[in-house]
Amino acid sequence: MTLLELKDVSVHYGRIQAIHDMSFTVEEGEIVSLIGANGAGKSTTMKTISGLLNPSHGSITFDGEDITKVKAHLRVVKGISQSPEGRGIFPGMTVMENLDMGAFGRADRSGMAADFDRVFDLFPRLAERKTQLGGTMSGGEQQMLAIGRALMSAPRLLLLDEPSMGLAPQFIKQIFKIITEINAQGTTVLLVEQNANQALARANRGFVLETGAITHQGTGKELLANPAIKEAYLGVG
Ligand code: ATP
Repeated sequence: MTLLELKDVSVHYGRIQAIHDMSFTVEEGEIVSLIGANGAGKSTTMKTISGLLNPSHGSITFDGEDITKVKAHLRVVKGISQSPEGRGIFPGMTVMENLDMGAFGRADRSGMAADFDRVFDLFPRLAERKTQLGGTMSGGEQQMLAIGRALMSAPRLLLLDEPSMGLAPQFIKQIFKIITEINAQGTTVLLVEQNANQALARANRGFVLETGAITHQGTGKELLANPAIKEAYLGVG
């Protein structure tokens, strides 16, 4: 079943067009990776899906409903949650308070308790640091907190913007393992990554973005084996 569909989406910053007539789908249950160089439009695409930016043209459909004009906070209620680039946790709030913010607007107490358990199972480090201020956590821990917070709205579609950015190699491995686990638990994932090798290895399908348009698409395996993509994005000739 198609969970998300972008159709001919264009996005402008003032007079600058960052996304050009982009169309793609994300099927329920998939991990889909978006890769591309700096400035290709990856974050812009994610913000347009979460509703932080409005397309100048085209439509976005989620679970069969046109959400192009739906405000960002209502998209969260419908099941779209974003862990933003640069993490964006609340530095002056504790780990628990940060997670609580992710559950903003929820009233189903038993469901929330189950999601706290889910987050603490995925990230035992957060369970050990419930009262620590977010701003004093390490980079890797803040990344875990940002993903945990996004999960607290019980999303059907989790948008992850550069989850491995700035992390040490052992943390990068761990984050990708956890993303696979989150997906195995039933959450559909759209992943933006500079770390193209790992992102495509973990993905059902991938898209390559160049200057605001999709230039290649295929299964993760197909893209990993494509010589042009190897040369441009995977660090091998
Ligand atoms: P990176 O990997 O470097 O984060 P990206 O693929 O996520 O890059 P975007 O951040 O989506 O790229 O940027 C796409 C284009 O839109 C770039 O040319 C960028 O300079 C431009 N852009 C992004 N945000 C703004 C803004 N607020 N105002 C004007 N232009 C912007």
